[in-house]
This record gives sequence, structure tokens and C-alpha cells, in this order.
Amino acid sequence: MTLIVQKYGGTSVGSPERIRAVAERVKAWRAQGHDLVVVVSAMSGETNRLLALAKELAAEPDPRELDQMVSTGEQVTIALLAIALHEIGVPARSYTGAQVAVKTDAAYGKARIEAIDDARMRADLAAGRVVIVAGFQGIDGEGNITTLGRGGSDTTGVALAAALKADECQIYTDVDGVYTTDPRVVPQARRLHKITFEEMLEMASLGSKVLQIRSVEFAGKYNVPLRVLSSFSEGGAGTLITLETEDDMEKPVISGIAFNRDEAKVTVRGVPDTPGIAYRILGPVGEANIEIDMIVQNVGADGLTDFTFTVNRPDYRKVMSVLERIAHDIGAREVSGDDKIAKVSLVGVGMRSHAGVAAKMFETLARESINIQMISTSEIKISVVVQEKYMELAVRALHTAFDLDAAV
Ligand code: ADP
Ligand code: ASP
Ligand code: MG
Repeated sequence: MTLIVQKYGGTSVGSPERIRAVAERVKAWRAQGHDLVVVVSAMSGETNRLLALAKELAAEPDPRELDQMVSTGEQVTIALLAIALHEIGVPARSYTGAQVAVKTDAAYGKARIEAIDDARMRADLAAGRVVIVAGFQGIDGEGNITTLGRGGSDTTGVALAAALKADECQIYTDVDGVYTTDPRVVPQARRLHKITFEEMLEMASLGSKVLQIRSVEFAGKYNVPLRVLSSFSEGGAGTLITLETEDDMEKPVISGIAFNRDEAKVTVRGVPDTPGIAYRILGPVGEANIEIDMIVQNVGADGLTDFTFTVNRPDYRKVMSVLERIAHDIGAREVSGDDKIAKVSLVGVGMRSHAGVAAKMFETLARESINIQMISTSEIKISVVVQEKYMELAVRALHTAFDLDAAV
């Protein structure tokens, strides 16, 4: 007997018909002799709808109440799926995160799972029931409802699979696997049969929202076999996310391309090039709870230097006001910003053993006359910041240049 955790995303449960289709799929897996725990998201659009309601009442709603409210989307789908399963003769019970004790810290809106109590789920499975759990939500030490951040049902799925030592965690979505890049942007993108946790983590961190970052972290940490599959088609193998066993040399140099429009860039010009200047700029930014991504400090000239960094786009105004406030104190000549940028990144473990990837990337972008504004590299990725309007062109050109296009 194997235990499988399946997670169905918003579009996969977006209507009663879709929920019925999920119920049929669950029934079929169960008929093959598997124990099943099923995690579901809110119906597509529901989480956005709920958040918009709260924003009509307050610009910055209280985080506790926001979680209390937005977690209801998933509570609807768990019960609907249980009802659909009962209709086709499958015993099932639904639970909220709190009911199966998905315990988290108290960071509303981005809570981290700390522990999961599997007793109740085990008892149901032993009694032959399918267990349905609301994704995206948990409960903190004081009994408050928390949520795990957008896309957090993936993390619920993987965390349950880890806690239950499931044989596989299957993430069902509206694409049939992880592709070389978002297939909605590049129709020639190819499905990957396999990708390493390490690469998937980079892809997710750099903007590929097919899996929430934390779900990949969890899967890597607890070595949960993770597969991305389509809930709209039958029988595909999807994409397996694994620890790599093959030799890196055998791998393609680049496995995928990620991109992210959710960024903005700010520059502090003409600050004194003295020890501690980075701290004096970034300290107040950190204190304002603004996350920083890429950072570039120019080589100083005449004792002055320029300092550029990127932040999440929703933090753009906030970071500009922090910098304008401290500009005088730190002796900056000018503060400027641009929220029409995008980050494009190449990811691949093959980069470790191949030189010239950066050169080829820059050459490809040059040929398209796309100016590179910032560059950052690590062992298995290279990211560039470009003007937002060139993002899709950059992704397509790189996809072709690095031989990622599907054969026609
Ligand atoms: P769900 O609601 O099932 O959680 P998401 O919208 O969160 O689904 O994730 C699936 C979407 O991720 C796809 O529709 C696709 O547009 C997008 N996506 C982005 N990058 C990739 C990629 N590299 N491979 C596959 N899908 C990707
Ligand atoms: N419903 C939540 C969201 O839209 C969680 C999820 O779908 O994974 O972000
Ligand atoms: Mg998702």
C-alpha cells in the first residue's frame, strides 16, 4: 500500500465540474490501492476576490483578520470535494488546517509550518477514508488562523507528504509539468522530465510561480519525491523533482529560464565611498521591512560612488520614501528609481562545468539590442535586469540561443 499526497490548484478546482473531475481522479487512484491525502486550493480567482474585498475597507487591513478571512476560500473547496467524493461512493472527510493541526509560527500572511500532527489523518486513512485538507492555512500557538503566502497550498501538500512520509507528492495544476520556461510566454517551451531540487528552487525563487518556493525547500530538505502533473489530461508522467544522480556533465548547460516583472530598481548616486556606506543605506531599508534582491555598487571615482539595488515592485514607493528621507544624512547627490524593469535568469547545474554561458547570454541580448542594467550570478544561475518591455523578447531569444525550443 502506498500513500500519495495530491494537491490540486485553483484552476483544477475552479468549478463544480472541475471538482467532479478531481473526485473521479481521486477515486481512480484509490481503486488502484493507494491511500490518499488530498490538498486543495481555493477556487481560481477566489483568493484575489477576498483580498480585494478587504482592500475596499482598509488600505492596510489587519494581518490577523486578513488571514482569518482569506483562509475561507480553501474551506469551501475541501467540503465541496468531500461532497463530490461521497456522491461517487468514496468515503472522505475534509479538514481545515487547524483541524489537522498544521502548526505554524505567527507571521500572518507568510507563516511557516513548524509541525503537523498526523494522528487524525492516520486514523481516517486506516478507516478507509480519503483525507482532504485545506491548503495555504495553519494555526499558530495561540490558536489564530494563519496563511502561508500566495501559492502556499503547494507547501501544505509537500509538508503533509513529509509528515506522513508519503511515497509521492503530486502537484496537479493547469500545465502538465515544469517547462523550460513559462509556456504561456514561450509556446515553444519544452516539458522537463526531471529537474533537481536545487534548480527548481532557483527557478521558483527567480519568478517561476509553478511551485511556491517554500514547497521546494521543504521537498529538498525532507527528500519528498515531488511531481508536477496536469489535472486536465490523463496519464502523463509530468515532471519529477529529484536529487540529482546523473553526472552534471551529462546535463544540458541550461535547464530553464525564469523571469520576474515583480521588481523595481533604485539608485543612490554620489554617496561618499567610505566604509559603512552600504550599511547606512540598506540598514534603514531593512528596518522598514523591505526585502532587497540584487545589489550593485559601482567602483568609486573622486571619492564618490553609486549604489543600485532592486526590491519587490509593491515596495517601490516605500523604498523611495525611505531613501529620500536619508539622502541628506548620507550625503547622496541624487536618488532615482525605475519600476518598469524585469529580471531574466538562466538556471542550470550544467553551468558549473561549462564556461562561456554569461558571454553567450550577453551576446544574445546584444544582438536583440537589449540593454543590460544589472547582472548577478551564482554557481547555477545568471540573472540580468532589463527594461520590462524587452522581457519577453529576451526570454524568447535566450530560449532559442540555448537550444531549449521544442522540436517541431
Ligand atoms: P495552481 O493554481 O495550480 O497552483 P499556478 O498558476 O500557481 O497553478 O501555477 C501554474 C502556472 O505556472 C502555469 O499555468 C504556468 O503559466 C506558470 N509557470 C511559470 N513558469 C512555469 C514553468 N517553468 N513551467 C510550467 N509552468 C510555469
Ligand atoms: N489560494 C491561495 C492563493 O491563491 C493558495 C494557493 O492557491 O496555493 O495564493
Ligand atoms: Mg500555485
